[in-house]
Amino acid sequence: MKASQFFIATLKEAPADAEVVSHQLMMRAGMIKRLGAGIYNYMPMGLRVIRKVEAILREEMVRAGAVELLMPVVQPAELWQETGRFEKMGPELMRVKDRHERDFIIQPTSEEVVTDIARQELRSYKQLPKNFFHIQTKFRDERRPRFGVMRGREFTMKDAYSFDRDAEAAGRSYEQMFAAYLKIFDRLGLQYRAVAADTGAIGGDRSHEFQVIAETGEDAIVYCPTSDYAANIELAEALPLGPERAAPAEALAQVATPSTSSCADVAALLGLPIERTVKSLVLASDTLDETGHPVKTQLWLLLVRGDHELNEVKAGKVELPDGSGLKAGFRFATAAEIEAAFGSKPGSLGPVGVKGVKVVADRTVARMSDFVCGANVPEAHLRGVNWGRDLPEPDAVADLRNVVAGDPSPDGKGVLAIQRGIEVGHVFYLGTKYSKAMNATFLDETGKPRLFEMGCYGIGVTRILGAAIEQNHDGRGIVWPASIAPFQVAVCPIGYDRSEAVKAAADALHAELLAAGVDAILDDRGERPGAMFADWELIGVPQRVVLSDRGLKEGQVELQGRREAAATSCPVAEAAAQLR
Ligand code: ATP
Ligand code: MG
Ligand code: MG
Ligand code: MG
Repeated sequence: MKASQFFIATLKEAPADAEVVSHQLMMRAGMIKRLGAGIYNYMPMGLRVIRKVEAILREEMVRAGAVELLMPVVQPAELWQETGRFEKMGPELMRVKDRHERDFIIQPTSEEVVTDIARQELRSYKQLPKNFFHIQTKFRDERRPRFGVMRGREFTMKDAYSFDRDAEAAGRSYEQMFAAYLKIFDRLGLQYRAVAADTGAIGGDRSHEFQVIAETGEDAIVYCPTSDYAANIELAEALPLGPERAAPAEALAQVATPSTSSCADVAALLGLPIERTVKSLVLASDTLDETGHPVKTQLWLLLVRGDHELNEVKAGKVELPDGSGLKAGFRFATAAEIEAAFGSKPGSLGPVGVKGVKVVADRTVARMSDFVCGANVPEAHLRGVNWGRDLPEPDAVADLRNVVAGDPSPDGKGVLAIQRGIEVGHVFYLGTKYSKAMNATFLDETGKPRLFEMGCYGIGVTRILGAAIEQNHDGRGIVWPASIAPFQVAVCPIGYDRSEAVKAAADALHAELLAAGVDAILDDRGERPGAMFADWELIGVPQRVVLSDRGLKEGQVELQGRREAAATSCPVAEAAAQLR
């Protein structure tokens, strides 16, 4: 490939809305171009990376026994009505109508369609196990698309779906996918952790997320450094990245469902002097409609412990008196009332502070009622808690969600540490959830119809680009893992347009690299050396080879790895071999 034929569009500055380094660098390197919120053009340089990621996924999926098909982006609503997801899924599901006013959806994932295929095509136990996968465009109308391709609305996912005759066989399919994912993320050159994830309504212990370790991750994971215990704390939506990146009001406004988080994070979020003694606290916000009328109260249960051991509290004990003169559905409680309700000593609540936010129609921050209350202060308030309605009973809140670093690991093999992660993959045992809803059966040996046991396995193709950059960059730009770099080698002649010798040597080396199967690009743009080197460093190509008149006189070229501080000389005849 010659640079003059390709498309290179680097920028000095990243746009102001690019909050994280991967987004900034992808924009600056000309890999993506914004079309709308969470919707991007994948420009030629970025698309090369996407294709390399896809090639690795395809290879490993096929190696693990999966078979590729391609299911449509636009899917009839009927299938989604069969499983109830058309109604249940909420605004993340993009619904569209055709010219006949028939309902369709733009797929966020493909369980319904693949189950429909299976119930028609997989008729006998002899056809099982079967694992179908595709790499396809997804659309999710995310509440807050951000970080470029890491949380887009339109994005590319590799999703696979396994069909098995029974739970035991489905377990084997799950293990196979799990193993394939380890290979995939190793090959992608990422530093990651497989963590236990929430199985939600399905239950069981078969759900794992593959989390790329990065400070900017939206998930928080706990792990035990002295054992293989690791789990997602499920903070993803509840916590912002910290005060320097998101204002608290904005951050809290992102939270649409009750959720819990560790006190350290909350303390950091609120900028409050909460020490290790107070583990968590209660936060609440009210959702208002456009007229300011409260629609619902949203609450976060953040249990408090330490001196006060308030995490012992049972929901039933919290019976706070109705506040008079307040809008329907809201109640305030004073510190004394809360202490009484929690059975704590008067005055013991300590320096707990709470901020509330008001959210209009679940999306826009209208105003922040900034009622920080040191709960010891008379007349300080917590928003009314309606247990059971607004919030699960405290007992139902998983213990994990209240962990702090240093807590004992559930496996008893050490203490827990906390890290942030980016979810790049997810494997999930579905059981018969979809096959039952859609009556998808096959005939077993005795000729009896049985429901498929299913699993689903996703990888965020485009999100991987962002995650890889979060882990691999420096002051000059991206440092791609070699396996997914847009090009492996940049051939950089100095004076390509002026010097016959340089041109001839560069053309020959480029041809030799291509013949050897090295994905090399020849920079024939005639740029000045400084600008040319800066481009390739920004783009993150792993190897650079520089040819100049001066070097060639001695028969030498200069090689420099993207992570190396200086170039080394190499005889021109040996360069291709060295770069292979
Ligand atoms: P998240 O918790 O980040 O919202 P998810 O749990 O909703 O992700 P899954 O339904 O498990 O996502 O989808 C499988 C994979 O698709 C995820 O592990 C992630 O890598 C990717 N993915 C999900 N949502 C997005 C998005 N908005 N933009 C880019 N990739 C995404
Ligand atoms: Mg999601
Ligand atoms: Mg998730
Ligand atoms: Mg997931």
